[in-house]
Amino acid sequence: MNSYEKLIRGYNEFRGRYLGKENLDWRNWAKERQAPKVMIIACSDSRVNPIIVTHAALGDIFVVNNVANLVPPYKEGKLTHHSTSAAIEYAVNHLHVEHIVVMGHSGCGGIRALMSDNEEAEDIDQEKGAYSFIKPWMKIVEEAADFTEEEKERYDEEELLCMCEKRAVLISLNNLATFPWVKKSVLSGHLKIHAWHFDIASGVLLEYDRAEDDFIALK
Ligand SMILES: [Zn+2]
Repeated sequence: MNSYEKLIRGYNEFRGRYLGKENLDWRNWAKERQAPKVMIIACSDSRVNPIIVTHAALGDIFVVNNVANLVPPYKEGKLTHHSTSAAIEYAVNHLHVEHIVVMGHSGCGGIRALMSDNEEAEDIDQEKGAYSFIKPWMKIVEEAADFTEEEKERYDEEELLCMCEKRAVLISLNNLATFPWVKKSVLSGHLKIHAWHFDIASGVLLEYDRAEDDFIALK
């Protein structure tokens, strides 16, 4: 069975359950509305789907996937192409979600691209166009890759990558607060924003703790 056939087989299994009697009320309700309480901004990476990681159901989570789970700073204008900003606007102003989670993860290819040598990346740009969109997109969190000489000596490449992933999530969290209506909802107490980091090998999910200024394992 090839990868596409596997999709169709999965769809048929899903549909068998989805059309079951026990799901009838929900389908009747959901055909006209959605009311998720949570928005999650996650990476497009195939290994970190937040619906699967949190064992959620259809209708539970309003999800945005983009490369490296970034939130751009607030910027109005007809010429911006901010699909992530549009999704945040819909989640906060129309769905009135109670939580927004920015979910980073280990081994993030977008963060690795940000940390890769710039000259090398520019060469790749011209030859293959491999980073034509990724590099400019990753500029949103470029400060996350600014390491001191001491840090570069003290930590190996994988540790620096992990640090960069976590810093990038925190930059996105700060960017979220630049959206005036996000800020307003947070100040009114209706909305809480969270930063997560998922480790693929161990399956451990960490949450940023402001008091500790560190990522702590969720239990
Ligand atoms: Zn990623």
